[in-house]
Amino acid sequence: MLWPFELHRSYHRRNDIHARFGGQQQGGISTPADAPGIFIFTGHGAGHVGYQDVFEADGSFRYTGQGQLGDMRMISGNRAIRDHVQNGKDLLLFQQTKKGGPVRFEGLYVCGGWEIEPQPDMNGQPRQAIVFTLVPQSGLTIEAQDLATEAPTDLPLAELRKRALKAAITANEANPRVALANVRARSKAVRDYVLARAAGVCEACRNPAPFLTAAGQPYLEAHHIHKLSDGGPDQPASVAAVCPNCHRRAHFGEDQITLNNELLERVRRIEK
Ligand SMILES: [Zn+2]
Ligand SMILES: [Zn+2]
Repeated sequence: MLWPFELHRSYHRRNDIHARFGGQQQGGISTPADAPGIFIFTGHGAGHVGYQDVFEADGSFRYTGQGQLGDMRMISGNRAIRDHVQNGKDLLLFQQTKKGGPVRFEGLYVCGGWEIEPQPDMNGQPRQAIVFTLVPQSGLTIEAQDLATEAPTDLPLAELRKRALKAAITANEANPRVALANVRARSKAVRDYVLARAAGVCEACRNPAPFLTAAGQPYLEAHHIHKLSDGGPDQPASVAAVCPNCHRRAHFGEDQITLNNELLERVRRIEK
């Protein structure tokens, strides 16, 4: 599934997002039943209480959850954000700068965790708010140089799989720094497992990895079949270890849809 939204481009919320994908047209968190994503809106006029939402220097985004009066609870939209990886849903962040104006696409995010924080509600009454730490998915891509220098993991495949499955389950309550570290560790757990699962053979073309890294490992890359950008925690059944050629092809080839569908079927079969 490729989202038709370009980074930092503006869209009409109702016509471009909800008319195509469904989901609630009001409020900060929109959870369409039949689309593989959750739309979150921030900014003045987005019909969202989170006026304390803020982009941090490390690239993460603090997002106040749903609930206009009283303490926020981990239900509906808030729960959807917490469990989005487990449910195979992307998080798409849009920012509205003007009431009634267009919304700007800020990219795909991963929920790293959340904190409970005192914030006033709509009536100015003190209450406990849920504030999520959202991490840009693009920042979680593990680059070739990391793979080349990293010492190989010597854990058995079954243990790596256990870690990868756990990493795909859910985010925890944690402060932003820990949330960021957690999401990186979860991302790495998935990557380590799929590379071990492939055992040096590309899961797309079935050829051996084209070269060994300086650390002596067969060089393959983790491709997130459903995602626009690789990286982030994900279900191991949605991630494949592929050679660099197949990887470019899966993103840019004219046959990318067929290739990704075949890959998905193969990986799902392996994971069964
Ligand atoms: Zn290949
Ligand atoms: Zn990829």
